Amino acid sequence: MTTTFAQLGVPSLLADALATRGIDEPFPVQAATIPDALAGRDVCGKAPTGSGKTFAFGLPILANVQKAKKGRPRALVLAPTRELAEQIKKELAPLARSVGRYVFAVYGGVGYGGQISAMRKGVDVLVACPGRLEDLIDQGIVDLSDADLVVLDEADRMADMGFMPSVMRLLDQTSSDRQTLLFSATLDGDIAKLAKRYQNDPVRHEAASV
Ligand code: ADP
Ligand code: MG
Repeated sequence: MTTTFAQLGVPSLLADALATRGIDEPFPVQAATIPDALAGRDVCGKAPTGSGKTFAFGLPILANVQKAKKGRPRALVLAPTRELAEQIKKELAPLARSVGRYVFAVYGGVGYGGQISAMRKGVDVLVACPGRLEDLIDQGIVDLSDADLVVLDEADRMADMGFMPSVMRLLDQTSSDRQTLLFSATLDGDIAKLAKRYQNDPVRHEAASV
């Protein structure tokens, strides 16, 4: 018998929105992590590219995220590159719409105008590359103190790209009672240190490729 998203505890609005895209059966990383994430646990997930991490963190976020005040996102997803940030936003935007929430991505290499006006309108789930996010914070456009759901996606790549100091500065500005989900292809070295410092009794899951 196969599991469904509803059986993992995903609210029916979200499960229905997935079903309209032909997505009915959770991938292993999703089946492993979604129940713990929905229960509010910190999760440390080791999973390779293509394993379905976006829904693994996106569904628990969208099941729980509250509406944001202007410039004060309630959920934050940090990703290493603008391509990944944009991909996460695209994948989650239709699901967010189904629960009345707004997802937006900020990254470098593009103008500030669109990002500033989106933040001023209110972004519930902010997907961001660390450099541009710090830049927007320095400009007073974004404040992370309401962010109590935080995801580090592809944490090993962020470390490889030299983003660790920036990631730590950003985490230090989020809500101290946040839930922190960390996904990475490897969980040793810098990533283990990051988990130790920023996660609270994390449950660890390892998922193979699909
Ligand atoms: P990762 O972030 O681990 O590299 P993604 O979250 O980008 O992987 O997912 C890879 C692809 O699999 C995407 O095209 C996504 O839409 C698809 N996908 C994710 N979960 C499922 C699922 N449960 N059933 C079918 N397709 C899925
Ligand atoms: Mg991904």
